Amino acid sequence: MRDLLDGLNGPQRDAVTHEGQPLLIVAGAGSGKTKVLTSRIAYLLAARHVHPGEIIAITFTNKAAGEMKERVAKLVGNRARLMWVSTFHSACVRILRNEHDHAGLKSTFSIYDADDSRRLMQLVARELDLDPKRYPARGLATQVSNLKNELIDPEKFAGTAKGPAERALAEAYTLYQQRLTEAHALDFDDLIMRVVHLLQSHPEVAESYRRRFRHVLVDEYQDTNHAQYMLVKELVGDTGELCVVGDADQSIYAFRGATIRNILEFERDYSNARTILLEQNYRSTQTILSAANSVIGRNTERKPKRLWSDQGEGEQIVGYVADTEHAEADWVAREIDRLSDNEGVRPADVAVFYRTNAQSRVFEEMFIRFGLPYKVVGGVRFYERKEVRDALAYLRAVANEDDTVSVRRVLNTPRRGIGDRAEACIEALASRDRISFGAALRRASEAPGISTRAVNAINEFVALLDDLRTLATTAMPEEVLEAALDRSGYLAEIEESTDPQEAGRVENLQELVSVAREYTERAEATIAVAAEQGDATVAPPPSVAGFLEQVSLVADADQIPSDDPDHTGVVTLMTLHTAKGLEFPVVFLTGLEDSVFPHQRAMSDRKELEEERRLAYVGITRARQRLYISRAVTRSAWGAPSYNPPSRFLEELPPELVRWERTDAAYTSWSGRAGVGGRSSGATQSRTSSFVGNTPKAAQLAAKLGLDPSKLSTASELQREVPNFAVGDRVNHQRYGLGRVLAVEGAGPRAQAQIDFGDQVVWLVLRHAAIEKL
Ligand code: ATP
Ligand code: MG
Repeated sequence: MRDLLDGLNGPQRDAVTHEGQPLLIVAGAGSGKTKVLTSRIAYLLAARHVHPGEIIAITFTNKAAGEMKERVAKLVGNRARLMWVSTFHSACVRILRNEHDHAGLKSTFSIYDADDSRRLMQLVARELDLDPKRYPARGLATQVSNLKNELIDPEKFAGTAKGPAERALAEAYTLYQQRLTEAHALDFDDLIMRVVHLLQSHPEVAESYRRRFRHVLVDEYQDTNHAQYMLVKELVGDTGELCVVGDADQSIYAFRGATIRNILEFERDYSNARTILLEQNYRSTQTILSAANSVIGRNTERKPKRLWSDQGEGEQIVGYVADTEHAEADWVAREIDRLSDNEGVRPADVAVFYRTNAQSRVFEEMFIRFGLPYKVVGGVRFYERKEVRDALAYLRAVANEDDTVSVRRVLNTPRRGIGDRAEACIEALASRDRISFGAALRRASEAPGISTRAVNAINEFVALLDDLRTLATTAMPEEVLEAALDRSGYLAEIEESTDPQEAGRVENLQELVSVAREYTERAEATIAVAAEQGDATVAPPPSVAGFLEQVSLVADADQIPSDDPDHTGVVTLMTLHTAKGLEFPVVFLTGLEDSVFPHQRAMSDRKELEEERRLAYVGITRARQRLYISRAVTRSAWGAPSYNPPSRFLEELPPELVRWERTDAAYTSWSGRAGVGGRSSGATQSRTSSFVGNTPKAAQLAAKLGLDPSKLSTASELQREVPNFAVGDRVNHQRYGLGRVLAVEGAGPRAQAQIDFGDQVVWLVLRHAAIEKL
């Protein structure tokens, strides 16, 4: 047990061993807040003999939750599964599934994510005949979300709405909510609001959760919104032990209603609270820390604090001014290359941050050219791909017939002769008879004006869904998914297509089936543990609904590759928002230009500028050893070049901390190549746009090369086998497929070849390319 405290500093120990009144730990980045939370949980289990089932820990991302579980599993083994470690949203889904009766929900309710909500709002706005220019669905959806985060329901808002805009919003909110209810669906914000209302209106339910969760722990407390704040308050009651950690300087979700008020006023809200400050940073060098302190020091609305590190000064920050965004990406790629050649830095040690998702594309193109393995977190996310959404919509339609958005999504996907007209007839029937769209489908022949052909097609569709429902009562989610893709003809349609993009779609669907299988395996393992512990309530059996629930709650950060020490891994590309809570030995902070970062929107508003500055603080403090900063003199925006001045945050860095590698703008050597690899949309869309060796293609290639696929870990193993190339050679590339060499340049480690892969022509550095000569 002593080991649990070993290596912690004084205040960290105090935080870990503290008993009783509410505890707030406020501290700057990298001071071990998350570590304290994890250690505290371990301490509760080991020293205070708390049962894992009595603990609920809230983290901001699923990734952090996973790490916490893993760490605790190391300490207490399988029993860790009985603890609730999750995001706010996941915790609320679990509570609502358990208490659906009290919450007035069907047990099979659907969860609508942001995209579904927007679609529904679109239908609602059309139905209300709202002018889409004045009231775009996206804007309405955001405003409704804000209201829910403030726990304001439609009735309450309608009661206070003033002026035409608010009244239109009130109408939209009311109808939107009504449609959600009819569809037995909840949107993301509902999840939290419903639980708060449930706990407030059913004291006996609240009491049962308070009895169960003796310990409530919350990470990244600065990013909680009002609804989440109330949820914590309800769960803790008068008896629970509460421990929250946060850093007001890292609050970056004000646009989602997060309020640092929650942290600033913790002591007032919990009158007997104890606060512990942590001041030693264990993550970064003093140089990185001083840079971060200097930037955040410009914010006026904050309590000053000074973080220190005993890791030494470390390397200077390296800066670069590129002519274009392509040149910037080129510099980043070259530097990563250099670090891995000369300094033993692995790709997995490196992260490249940017302000908005769209900025990833240029980096992706360049990394592919360089053969650098990488992964984009966020962006066109796996779960946002059309085919993945279609497949999930099938499952959701199976799980919940009244889920109108999903049923309508797959009604004519693939095409089965149910056109817009037929859909409108069904919609009319549904609204006339006040039944759901799904229920109306069953009575298609009664729909006025519908054609016999459409009725037949609809009957087949209904029969298909019913078959799948029957299957779902006995089969595992992955089997239901496969059956849905197969029996609907959806997979066949994609497979038969000659569009090269479709190949990736099939792979994505395969990946989704694997996700389902993993879910099932995990659920079964949890049941086994729960049975051993004699606590069956915590482990629901695997089901389609359970799988969907997990999927709808996956946040961006889930795509971050896990750290495998034998793997050199991949470079991580991500937005600054996604980077919260993470750390990397090497960080590139790119696009430091006014109106890129800080974002255009924030430039004229002091409050928003302060939020951007906090984002810069988050970015800088992710770096452990080396920080690189860069900007481009011109960058194309909406297809036209724009010239942005240097980011104001650059001036806020102490000049002596930065060594500028290139400050002028006379960069030309790149220009000859800027356009290659033109059609790289496939790369931008692929989920794991990397050369990690565990893909089917890599395995095939390995087999051809006579390597043992099970031993294949990275592209580097393939490279060693690569022979010299000559113009005209036919080649096979792990990612691009078959191609022909058009030109070769350079020699030895610098050799590059221009290769025609049919749908695109690409320059590759041969040393890095996962390629074979045929
Ligand atoms: P952020 O604000 O970015 O979320 P944090 O305060 O949660 O940061 P952690 O991620 O918990 O900080 O810790 C930062 C790093 O410092 C981690 O690598 C962690 O393992 C390490 N660390 C924390 N405390 C100690 C300690 N007492 N001794 C050694 N290393 C520590
Ligand atoms: Mg943390």
